[in-house]
Amino acid sequence: MLDVYQKLEKIVLKQFISNDLYVRHAYSRNVDVALQGVPDIVIRPRDAKEISEILKIANTENIAVIPRGAGICEFGGSKPIGDNGIVLDLKRMNNILSLDEENLIVTVEAGISWAKLNEYLCHYGLYTGCMGPGSGMSASIGGGISHHSVGGGGCAKYGACTNQLVSLEVVLPTGDIIETGSQANRYSKQPFNRFGNGPDLAGLFCGDNGIFGVKTKVSLQIFPRPEFAAYKTFQLPRKEREVSAKIMSEVRRKGIDVYDLMYIMDLLVRVGTQEGYMPMWEHLKKKRGVIFYTVEANSEVELNEKVKQLDEIMLNNKTELLGAEISDGNIAKWHYVEQGHWQFYHNLWGMYPSMQALTAECFAPIHRYPSILNDIDQWDMEHAEDMQKISEITKIRPIAGSGPILLIDGNNVEITCGFTSFWAFYNGKVHKTIEETNIKLWKSLLERVTKQGVQWYMMGDFMSRLMVDINAYSEEYYNLMKPIKEIIDPKMILSRGKFNFWGDGKRV
Ligand SMILES: Cc1cc2nc3c(=O)[nH]c(=O)nc-3n(C[C@H](O)[C@H](O)[C@H](O)COP(=O)(O)OP(=O)(O)OC[C@H]3O[C@@H](n4cnc5c(N)ncnc54)[C@H](O)[C@@H]3O)c2cc1C
Repeated sequence: MLDVYQKLEKIVLKQFISNDLYVRHAYSRNVDVALQGVPDIVIRPRDAKEISEILKIANTENIAVIPRGAGICEFGGSKPIGDNGIVLDLKRMNNILSLDEENLIVTVEAGISWAKLNEYLCHYGLYTGCMGPGSGMSASIGGGISHHSVGGGGCAKYGACTNQLVSLEVVLPTGDIIETGSQANRYSKQPFNRFGNGPDLAGLFCGDNGIFGVKTKVSLQIFPRPEFAAYKTFQLPRKEREVSAKIMSEVRRKGIDVYDLMYIMDLLVRVGTQEGYMPMWEHLKKKRGVIFYTVEANSEVELNEKVKQLDEIMLNNKTELLGAEISDGNIAKWHYVEQGHWQFYHNLWGMYPSMQALTAECFAPIHRYPSILNDIDQWDMEHAEDMQKISEITKIRPIAGSGPILLIDGNNVEITCGFTSFWAFYNGKVHKTIEETNIKLWKSLLERVTKQGVQWYMMGDFMSRLMVDINAYSEEYYNLMKPIKEIIDPKMILSRGKFNFWGDGKRV
């Protein structure tokens, strides 16, 4: 491995490559603490050309390469599968390359965060529409495109961030560099459209979880931020799952272009206030679930009309309006005005010390989510024995459930669901028992949710292989996906092991 290191060292400056143990361990995990893979080398390239050279060496030496944006995938997507390989950290590539104000298109390096890009755009009265994922303060644009990320604001109006994609520059696993969309024509003066010049090859890299190429340059549509906005929060009546789904359907059927519409369930309201991370709801007598909307408009008249229609739907469904200020419980105001859209989920991850959220994120049609949530409750009861095993050690019973439900594009919602457990870091002896039980339960729950017919949009190490293990792909679909990978990446260099394209990924 030393001679590989020496070859790579010639590509980047000394300070941008490391094989120190502590650096390798720092890059061995993502947000979940359950999955670990320690790389041999961590490297931070400056541009597509350097990445191309790195990948050529990796092909010659037959070493896996794992692209990493901010590394905040929830289930091991941007760390190696098994202890090996080169982690390609893209965070140095964080520049804005051009702003085409006339055609409303921005071009950036793929390692830039959603927050940095939007901070820049706001000086021009512009924004990305879909503000990326809830982790957008640090999550990269390249990570977002690789996941079809959605959830960090604006998702009911604009949908997933890949909807705004215009063109990509991608370094293929063999080291060749391509551009997609309008840029496939070498005579094009600037990126302006995704579709055309043949099939939509950008689509191949959207949601690919880093298996088909390294995104280095991304052009996105951008939008003028409307001058007027309203934001209101309502408490739901009983049967909140069904009522909230009904409200979302009615909003869609009436064609009201809400910016965000989110249902936050009673459990989160209760635990959130108990633990002090949602002080805005402490005064609520009944700790029921809430639903909020944010809506934008170009004039006061337009805004008032939209608000009138939305309020009518809310009140016809027997919700109760909370006060206008954040301290009155109006989380919608915090979400839209105070950048809460990028902070909201962080609290959920930090509810208790040593809490382990073993989650996954999926899309489902609006009308399906109440029954999916009911089935997760049912799964929880069926697994009481294993839950008991964990709570005997940690003294806290794990829970299965879902984070907030968010309206996205079409008649769909985003569901973050999973299993929240606790790790006894303080007691090394029981660590193995907890780890094994947690992983067994995590797999079992995600298999159950998969069989509800949901669509996982970020797959990581965990979901990409689980889908294959439980036979969720049709044979025909998998048999098309695999040869595409083999043609683009004959040595399975990039993100080796995902989707079980290379056995269990631990073959070295
Ligand atoms: C608190 C919190 C909130 C979150 N909220 C959301 C949410 O609302 N919606 C959502 O979608 N996700 C959410 N996530 C999950 C995750 O942070 C996002 O999906 C995010 O887009 C990942 O970006 P990243 O830069 O961290 O990517 P990484 O974790 O670094 O990488 C993700 C995947 O993309 C690949 N990849 C990264 N960059 C490139 C590149 N340039 N070229 C090729 N492949 C690449 C990696 O190999 C990996 O497979 C959340 C996570 C946390 C911890």
